[in-house]
Amino acid sequence: MISVEEALEKIIIYVNILEEEPVPILDTLGQVLAEDISSSIDIPPLDNAAMDGYAIQAGDTASASRDSPSYLHVIDTVVAGAISEWEVRPGTATRIMTGAPVPKGADSVVRFEDTDETQREKSTNNEIGILCTIKTGTNIRRAGEDVTRESLVLKKGTVIRPAEVGVLASLGKSQVKVIRRPVVAILATGNELVEIDQPLPAGKIYNSNTYSVAALVQRYGGIPKLLGIALDSEASLIAGLRQGLDADMLITSGGVSAGDYDIVKDILAKEGKISFWTVRMKPGKPLAFGTIKGTDKKGATRNLPHLGLPGNPVSSMVTFELFARPAIHKMMGKKSLAKPMVEAIIEDPVINTDERRVYTRAIVTRRGDKYYARLTGPQGSGILTSMSLANGLVVVPEDRTEIKAGETAQVIMLDWNGEFYNLAAG
Ligand code: AMP
Ligand code: MG
Repeated sequence: MISVEEALEKIIIYVNILEEEPVPILDTLGQVLAEDISSSIDIPPLDNAAMDGYAIQAGDTASASRDSPSYLHVIDTVVAGAISEWEVRPGTATRIMTGAPVPKGADSVVRFEDTDETQREKSTNNEIGILCTIKTGTNIRRAGEDVTRESLVLKKGTVIRPAEVGVLASLGKSQVKVIRRPVVAILATGNELVEIDQPLPAGKIYNSNTYSVAALVQRYGGIPKLLGIALDSEASLIAGLRQGLDADMLITSGGVSAGDYDIVKDILAKEGKISFWTVRMKPGKPLAFGTIKGTDKKGATRNLPHLGLPGNPVSSMVTFELFARPAIHKMMGKKSLAKPMVEAIIEDPVINTDERRVYTRAIVTRRGDKYYARLTGPQGSGILTSMSLANGLVVVPEDRTEIKAGETAQVIMLDWNGEFYNLAAG
């Protein structure tokens, strides 16, 4: 039995970063940029108004006040997207809307609120009163203040978030090169399993692992390929596995414990190479990892990483978070593979009788400047609703037999969703 760290290392060493491909920017969320992005333009392209108002020369406002406004002759109106042909000279002003280029000659924009605009009949005059003194440069956004032409804006290796999608759009890039998303083939195993759109005969259960695992693959940026259910027979398993040989990673669930029908690890040994089986952890001890002979897109043979997750629904999700997620992230070119952790005050005692590392489902809340974790209830590895209630996993080290209430422990955060906390607190 190897440690969690050893198991992760064996998996991570095995998986490779995938190729890059051009992708429309809106489809790149969460992917890693595979090229440096520099700008061919200034953003904004020209000096422009930060407020609706009047483009003027600041010198004309030297003696302006509410009691004694400075009156300027209005020569033009300019809206965003247009360019005024009139030069602003001393004693004149051009009415200007936010985002419109500042006309030649003007050195500042005085906002409507600092003029007598609202007190006037706009249609019957061409004069504006300025009610205060303003400094040169007021309310002007300078050309290139966001991005300057030729500058490096996004570095290769950046993980794309909505802000990066926006920045790319502002540069006029409709597609960029990113590391492609891995295709993860998912095969459930077990004679007891029934597909979720079928009636449930006596003694059977619905196949939930395929769906929780596929949802995790999606959440972490991969593309799930559902291979359905294999029976606990060699022929059925091999037939199932063969459907997934063109994927980047193969995940099976079930069939890895020590029972009579647990043949995934035997197949793994026969059809490929087993790297390890069983990890010093709970839930998730009977985790298997190895490689299976697969084919790439061109039909050439290659070794496909195969993660054999335990069948218990909680175990398969927890082992996915700990091992499949980092593998997917490495394939996607990400550098940071671990989930965020917090130190929390434990509110319910946690017992560890197995000398394994225990991951306990918990509800983490923040009160004041501290995090607190209480258990979701019964911790059986078949109680999938405990994952639904949890937003964190309390980590109990192998050498600790107990964490008492009031002591602190490390907690892996599965979610930071604010709505979740409302439910948890209720
Ligand atoms: P196994 O590892 O195959 O011995 O399975 C352990 C437990 O997980 C058994 O109770 C199985 O019925 C259950 N299980 C296995 N696969 C699934 C699945 N795809 N969906 C729900 N439960 C499963
Ligand atoms: Mg089984």
